[in-house]
Amino acid sequence: MDTRTALLAHARDSLAGLRREGRYREFARLEKIAGQFPRYRWYPPGAEEPREVTVWSSNDYLGMGTHPAVLAAAEEALRAHGAGAGGTRNISGTSPLHTALEAELAALHGKEAALLFGSGYVANQAALSVLLSALPGFHVFSDAKNHNSMIVGMRSATTAVRHIWRHNDLADLEAKLRAAPTDVPKLIAFESVYSMDGDIAPIGAICDLAERYGAMTYCDEVHAVGLYGATGGGITERDGVAHRVDVIEGTLAKAFGVLGGYVAGDAALVDYIRSTAAGLIFTTALPPHVAAAALASVRLLRADPAPRERLAERASALKAALDAAGLQRMPSASHIVPLWIGEAALCREVARRLLAEHAIYATPINYPTVARGEERLRLCATPLHTDEMMAELVAALRAVLPRTFGMRAA
Ligand SMILES: *Cc1c(COP(=O)(O)O)cnc(C)c1O
Repeated sequence: MDTRTALLAHARDSLAGLRREGRYREFARLEKIAGQFPRYRWYPPGAEEPREVTVWSSNDYLGMGTHPAVLAAAEEALRAHGAGAGGTRNISGTSPLHTALEAELAALHGKEAALLFGSGYVANQAALSVLLSALPGFHVFSDAKNHNSMIVGMRSATTAVRHIWRHNDLADLEAKLRAAPTDVPKLIAFESVYSMDGDIAPIGAICDLAERYGAMTYCDEVHAVGLYGATGGGITERDGVAHRVDVIEGTLAKAFGVLGGYVAGDAALVDYIRSTAAGLIFTTALPPHVAAAALASVRLLRADPAPRERLAERASALKAALDAAGLQRMPSASHIVPLWIGEAALCREVARRLLAEHAIYATPINYPTVARGEERLRLCATPLHTDEMMAELVAALRAVLPRTFGMRAA
């Protein structure tokens, strides 16, 4: 068999396997309606006519992606500076909007400097790979539930030794720190809000351990920036520990509603990453209007806590509504509300029926995003989800979940 035939056979077999397991990924075609978020137009498979639906699974946690001031900033910069950066940061791609955004992000986290990337994914991959390769014999201590972008970054630092500590388990982290050689460089890598469970890391206690064992700290605040802390600096700001975390990584694509990622930290470290990270050097800079939109969003959310407060209230209301209806919500300390399903095919079927029969979109979360047997629907209320939308969601869930459901995994 020639290579192409073998590869095609492999692809078809794998896809058939995914379908059998209920894990085949189908992307729903959804169109945000600016001014009506979280209402979207959904285009059913093969159909040209859309139907209006309510989305409960957006990472645009505050609806900033359609905020009038964010759109105005994008439009103005688009007209003034064009659609694309036209080069890498080094090759005529750095506009004053990029540097202003970096200064704003450094200030948001109380750090000396910040550096933009094309996405949060690339920021993690590029920064971790560069930092862990900078000194020989680095040991990195990685929370077991860290995001794929961090894992890929750590793995690409081929000289680093990786230790995986049990999720949010300080005793296990300490045991692993204690067991490592004392005189090697160490980095503890973790997230603040974990996006699939909605739980939150004990950042202060992690910093205590880092100090005791001479380690640096790297925190992915992707699901917390804009949402927590007095000015939206994340859990590190809320907990008063931003100054103790050496590198804070974030995204402009979730609560800030636009696109892009960044790291913030000591000026020399950030400059080192800027000067060595392939994921920055060899790729085109963010379009200026994207930087302008993100800058407007960060400035708005630094100045105004109201959207954060409204999100917290809406998340509590959603949790209370699910509890009152006897639905199996997983415990969550954040705005993320996972609903336990526990089976891939059922998870997909529940999501399919919610959409087709109730005009409600909620993403089924399956392996490999979560472990097999831990399938769930991941729900996020935003400040723009109304009580009426919540009542519709609860009624729809009760209609589509099997009647025995509440008893299954208790
Ligand atoms: C989404 C996500 C990222 C990647 O951010 P993007 O800007 O979407 O690339 C990084 N870390 C975590 C924990 C995430 O959930």
